[in-house]
Amino acid sequence: SESYPSLKRDPRYATLSQKDIDFFKGALAKDGGSIVTDIDESSDPSELDAFNIDWTHKYRGKSRLVIKPKTTEQVSQILKYCNSRRLAVVPQGGNTGFVGGSIPVFDEIIINLGLMNHIHGFDELTGILNLDAGVILEDADNYLVSKDHIFPLDIGARKSCQVGGCASTSAGGLRLMRYGNLHGNIIGMEAVLPDGTILNNLVKVREGYLGIITRLSVVCPQKPRSTNAAFLGLPSYNNVLKAFSTAKFHLSEILSAFELMDNTSQIFMDSHSSIPRPIKDEYPFYVFIETQGSSSNHDHEKLCRVVEELKEQKLIGEGAIAKDDKQIDEFVLRRVKTAGCLQDVGSGIYKYDVSLPLDILFDLVYATKERLKDLNLIGDAPGQPVIDVVGFGHVGDGNLHMNVLSRKLEKKVEDALEPWVFAWVASHEGSISSEHGLGFLKKPYVGYSKTPEMISLMKTIKHVIDPNGIMLPYKYVG
Ligand code: FAD
Repeated sequence: SESYPSLKRDPRYATLSQKDIDFFKGALAKDGGSIVTDIDESSDPSELDAFNIDWTHKYRGKSRLVIKPKTTEQVSQILKYCNSRRLAVVPQGGNTGFVGGSIPVFDEIIINLGLMNHIHGFDELTGILNLDAGVILEDADNYLVSKDHIFPLDIGARKSCQVGGCASTSAGGLRLMRYGNLHGNIIGMEAVLPDGTILNNLVKVREGYLGIITRLSVVCPQKPRSTNAAFLGLPSYNNVLKAFSTAKFHLSEILSAFELMDNTSQIFMDSHSSIPRPIKDEYPFYVFIETQGSSSNHDHEKLCRVVEELKEQKLIGEGAIAKDDKQIDEFVLRRVKTAGCLQDVGSGIYKYDVSLPLDILFDLVYATKERLKDLNLIGDAPGQPVIDVVGFGHVGDGNLHMNVLSRKLEKKVEDALEPWVFAWVASHEGSISSEHGLGFLKKPYVGYSKTPEMISLMKTIKHVIDPNGIMLPYKYVG
């Protein structure tokens, strides 16, 4: 493939034929479902691009077929057939992942879950929601809000990502501090294995690597009676850590988010979004704090006390407390829209989602800037491709999103960053993948976070479940 010159298509995998297309059409005929292909003229092939290109536009596959099944039985028939024919497949949710997991590397068939989007039921007493893997996260949340509950996960991609995609990548997000990651809230799962076997409630499946998740049971919390939010400006990262400690101490069980943004990311937010800046002056760091509890006045008072104390201790320069729900939304959006907004700054973006010990979380951004300076790759002079390096993330769970904003995607930038970033993270006792998964991006670097014994075990499990290797080839540890 021209997209990945150093990689060769694995000849073990078969190439699609008209006979295959006819089989898939037959499998979808009874209960609906659809396909997009350029092999025959039954669909509009221009639609293929949307499925072949990832959200960051960094990865581009060449699939000639997207299958959108409607039922678990169809998924089972399709996988069974693909397995017998050795046709490689890529499961795809909302295609919002950042690591190239959701798009094919070569011509793998895309199995998109978008039409499996039914909410099957909700038990108000237990808070258990039963839904298809293809339900959009925001639709699940809106449904739950009408039942006085919320989904235990919230991320910036909520309008497009699917609950199955979130489960596969073990997505974290804003509410992780309070409700834990999605895996901890999933109590049942239906999934289809590569040979077509339908497993009900038995396995946890990761990144479409061992199977396709078709249905989930998720325990969902009651909608909190009160939500409050504050937005702080801080002079140093050290103060961010002290403020985190103070917030945890005083807010304990009602603290639901403690989110970090650096000044550079917020300057780009000012110029690339219409969401108002919550505080007037500029600071090197900003923090968004959210509380969720059951007593509005009491929670509000607690949050005000924290902000007062932080001011008295001179840990923050400025602190705003949201006056009403509209302002809470603005504060939240200021944080959750950061990732999307940075996408528009240059024409190329390199995204790293890593875990690090909290005291050095932000050092990676400084170290990366230094490296790019040393290599003369960052700045405004001709030939300097990188515009800036920014950092933001979930302090509550030691997760940093570092974005390298580039004028365009260039091999010399990528070579300067990879594997250097991963080696830096590993040498500082971090993990190279925090919440976005390993996908295609991090496949060559798994060894930075996992021991050879672990990788060997993962490969053994993969071989037992998917002996023909048809699921998500060229990715993860495959
Ligand atoms: P896709 O991107 O389609 O797929 C991701 C992986 O899961 C692929 O490997 C795919 O093969 C596999 N997969 C998808 N569906 C299934 C299935 N049903 N069965 C088996 N495998 C499947 N992520 C976070 O964790 N936290 C954040 O705060 C966060 N913020 C984001 C903000 C923005 C603006 C954007 C664009 C993305 C953000 N993400 C975040 C990344 C992304 O949204 C998550 O990784 C999300 O979980 C992906 O869901 P998806 O449905 O889009 O999956």
